[in-house]
Amino acid sequence: MNEQWIQFANEIKKLYEKDVVPLHEPIFDEKEIEYVTNCIKTGWVSSVGSYVNRFEEDLAKFVGAKRAVAVVNGTAALHIALKIVGVQENDEVLMPSLTFVATANAASYLGAIPHFVDVSYETLGIDPVKLDKHLEGIGVLRNGQLYNKQTGRRIAAVVPMHTFGHPVDLDGLLELCDKFNLVLVEDAAESLGSYYKGKHTGTFGKVAAFSFNGNKIVTTGGGGAIVTNDDQLADYAKHLTTTAKIPHRWEYVHDEIGYNYRMPNINAALGCAQLEKLPKFIEQKRKLTDTYKKIISQLEDVRLFTESNNAQSNYWLQTIILGEKLKRNDILKILNDDGVMSRPIWKPMHMLKIYKNYPKAKLDYTEKLNRSIINIPSTPL
Ligand SMILES: *Cc1c(COP(=O)(O)O)cnc(C)c1O
Repeated sequence: MNEQWIQFANEIKKLYEKDVVPLHEPIFDEKEIEYVTNCIKTGWVSSVGSYVNRFEEDLAKFVGAKRAVAVVNGTAALHIALKIVGVQENDEVLMPSLTFVATANAASYLGAIPHFVDVSYETLGIDPVKLDKHLEGIGVLRNGQLYNKQTGRRIAAVVPMHTFGHPVDLDGLLELCDKFNLVLVEDAAESLGSYYKGKHTGTFGKVAAFSFNGNKIVTTGGGGAIVTNDDQLADYAKHLTTTAKIPHRWEYVHDEIGYNYRMPNINAALGCAQLEKLPKFIEQKRKLTDTYKKIISQLEDVRLFTESNNAQSNYWLQTIILGEKLKRNDILKILNDDGVMSRPIWKPMHMLKIYKNYPKAKLDYTEKLNRSIINIPSTPL
């Protein structure tokens, strides 16, 4: 049994021509150096400058949205996204338990309550059929607003997350949003370059949050963006993330408690160069999937996770799903001991001490997937 995993590790090292293969590395060349150097030469390295505007325009164009507002990281983007759609203190926000902690934290920053729901095996994201059943059970509509009968709180929004770049069933979710009067906010942190029925993820909800952390498909060092087709929401996001300062040549007047969340120009310079390469990164990652498919078809009791029918994934992180008999940690140990950096999925939110007493649906698929998912090296080749 262990033999096949040692051999698997060797195949990956051969593929990357390295003795130690990282999970995901950013790729830079002269372009990044040119733009960042140019940014430094202009002196505009901070919260104002032409690269930030250009990065926002390039990003909006790539995803096919009207507007993008660049911020310091994806978590800040989620925080502001939830705030501008009207999530209030004590509201509940539906989200997968199987996500990175930022999704839940962003709701908590607003005094809102994450409410964890289960995912599907096809997408690794929220399962609309299960969510429908759950809401039929615990929800009640009053004056057009959905309430949780068990807690008495309003349920304001649903935040699907496109896990490892794989789009969720957006049609199903949009239908539910209609039925239960929920706002859709997409956590698209991992899905830049991923499409659902030919349309870019992050353009289905009222707003979406993207991340450009160092481990994402393109990076600005640290960074994020709020994306929307609604000009008013975009303007408000920009205002809130620039300390809510009323534009004026010399006066400092702030009309609400805002945030210092603006992406620095020097980070945006890096991002402009990265965005130019995004189509190539996506192509390389999809090719890597084909290579892994061949290798993994030789292995027993494990499969490579691939995109569902309506989806075109960026394959940000390559994902294998272990059969029931295999022990995730044993395999992680073999791979990592052998120099192939691999990791499990995040511990589900409802299993973290900080979120264990929060409202939740039945989460059996989440718990099963938690035991069976491993991410393997995914740097574009
Ligand atoms: C990366 C990520 C974020 C947050 O991004 P940061 O830029 O690291 O703050 C949010 N949600 C998900 C699912 C992520 O993977």
